[in-house]
Amino acid sequence: MQEVGNVWVLRAEQTKKKTSHMRGFIDCHCHISAGDFDKVRTKLNDCFITQAGLLALLAVAEHAGEFTKIIELSQRFPGFIFPCLGVHPVQDDSPEQQRSASLQDLDAALPVIEKYKDRLVGVGEVGLDFTPRFVSGESDKESQKLVLIRQAQVAKELDLPLNVHSRSAGRPTIHLLKEQGVDKALLHAFDGKPSVAMEGVKAGYFFSIPPSIIRSEQKQKLVKQLPLENICLETDSPALGPEKQVRNEPRNICVSAEYISKVKGVSLETVMEVTTQNALRLFPKLKSAIRP
Ligand SMILES: [Zn+2]
Repeated sequence: MQEVGNVWVLRAEQTKKKTSHMRGFIDCHCHISAGDFDKVRTKLNDCFITQAGLLALLAVAEHAGEFTKIIELSQRFPGFIFPCLGVHPVQDDSPEQQRSASLQDLDAALPVIEKYKDRLVGVGEVGLDFTPRFVSGESDKESQKLVLIRQAQVAKELDLPLNVHSRSAGRPTIHLLKEQGVDKALLHAFDGKPSVAMEGVKAGYFFSIPPSIIRSEQKQKLVKQLPLENICLETDSPALGPEKQVRNEPRNICVSAEYISKVKGVSLETVMEVTTQNALRLFPKLKSAIRP
């Protein structure tokens, strides 16, 4: 633990002057610990990243069972892969059986979050998912809310931003975050209305846009409305790629960036610069930790 800490301190000294004009993309939400990447992950540096112009990648978790893997990945790629640990609103009992998260799911998660708190750049992936097949009634929704509230409290205690999932629950998610006094949040792949997203913008929240924007009219409308100052980039790999059913990869981050540049009528360079600065503002621990 100390060792990694020391490396980061050294890097912080070296990069202090460079942080204001760091060049490259930041993938703010990615499932790099997913089984889909087990075979290729060893070549992560070459085939996934070098051509991708990525500065950093935030590895999010869905359940306590993958926390160690994410921490290990962040140690293997120090200054590049940064961990966010949290409990997703939908939990898999088996590949076919999915259910709403409950407070019991936090029992295994919270001690590990506490253990690694100094290494985390955020708490996530947390949120609400009211897709009908995952919620059988109000009690499931309430259960998800309790899990989110508890994790929002943890994030506040640790002074960390939340990396937030919301599906068929845009409005309740933003309202809950505001009620809980959350002031640092990334709404990933937000599927709500632009008018609801704008409530999040007023609260100072950021919205990360995945490559699936090229095939999603809803995301295109969202980007039209959102100020560039509140937009970050993500891939959500292996999901939400440019092509449906094809495994998404972090290098597709440029697909999001290019599309945003078209919609906003600004250069790709500007999208890179502004979204990276946004990510550094939201996840301040990255500033001193990103490799030179
Ligand atoms: Zn995700």
